[in-house]
Amino acid sequence: MSYDYKEIVPYLLDWYDNNARILAWRENPKPYYIWISEIMLQQTRVEAVKGYFDRFITALPNIKALAEADEERLLKLWEGLGYYNRVRNLQKAAMQVSDLYDGELPTEYEKLMKLPGIGSYTAGAISSIAFGYPVPVVDGNVLRVTKRLAGSFDDIKKDKVKKELWQNLLPIIPLDRPGDFNQALMELGAMVCLPNGKPLCDKCPVMHLCKAFHEDTIDRIPVKTAPKERRKEERTILLMEYRNKFAIHKRSIKGLLAGLWELPGLEGKLNPKELRQHLHSMGYNPAEIIPMGEAKHIFSHVEWHMSGYNIKFEDEPLQPEVQDFVGKWAGRDEIIDIYSMPNAFSAFTTALREQIG
Ligand code: SF4
Repeated sequence: MSYDYKEIVPYLLDWYDNNARILAWRENPKPYYIWISEIMLQQTRVEAVKGYFDRFITALPNIKALAEADEERLLKLWEGLGYYNRVRNLQKAAMQVSDLYDGELPTEYEKLMKLPGIGSYTAGAISSIAFGYPVPVVDGNVLRVTKRLAGSFDDIKKDKVKKELWQNLLPIIPLDRPGDFNQALMELGAMVCLPNGKPLCDKCPVMHLCKAFHEDTIDRIPVKTAPKERRKEERTILLMEYRNKFAIHKRSIKGLLAGLWELPGLEGKLNPKELRQHLHSMGYNPAEIIPMGEAKHIFSHVEWHMSGYNIKFEDEPLQPEVQDFVGKWAGRDEIIDIYSMPNAFSAFTTALREQIG
């Protein structure tokens, strides 16, 4: 028998009124702010997003500024958030909004869904929170809370399950507070109905309506099919240094970390002797090769297992034109202020900042 979510509405809204966190995009729910915050929140926790959000909207305060931003600046503003396609899509969508809608986000869910990088979740959030349309938002928090409430063992990784939930929530969204209802469900998931079997049920406003609580199945819900195992890649990452300049390289415009700057790297984990030989074979003559330790970075489908080395040159190394290995020799300030370097390299760029800072 399906669960009647209508019953939770008053308890949930009352709890939200008294417990919602104060967030910049809630205090001033302009459509642009809701959009930027929701895209940032897709893979990042609220606490971490706050600083990025303030920085982003200070630098690019409206859709016009976003549409016209220089790509290097845009990527730099996104540095640390990862998933850089999201910010590229933000800009593409901002350009379309400027062309098609005179610089104002459309209010309807269906029109929002047609913009680059906006799926059902983001369209629902903008439409309901910024414009007051009664459209559900189904994210990981909402799935967890609702499946526990219903005591349901549905697999929340399945699109069919997400779509069904969207349909079930649609008729029960309160017409006078659709945005608050959606935010309340997400907030309950983030603050009380926590993942990994450790929800704070004694603080939950809908405990009396929760089947998983009463049937003692909380630690088995939600059900998620195991993700595919990630491919493991070994890499050797080089912090190449010559007269206070450091080599950086622009990645291909396709594939992982497309078009972003990186520290030059080689496939496989090389030991210092192998690395020296390899560099010689490329025409480089390093004065020193200093191990910088190991690091791991996890992407959605791949893991990088890296060994890092600081390579110091006394003689001028090869110029960038000679080969594609080094794209540019950049100073500390340029790397910090201009070129966006993905988090994958942070173990070695932190060393760079400390070393030359
Ligand atoms: Fe989640 Fe516990 Fe509330 Fe049920 S009672 S919705 S498991 S926090």
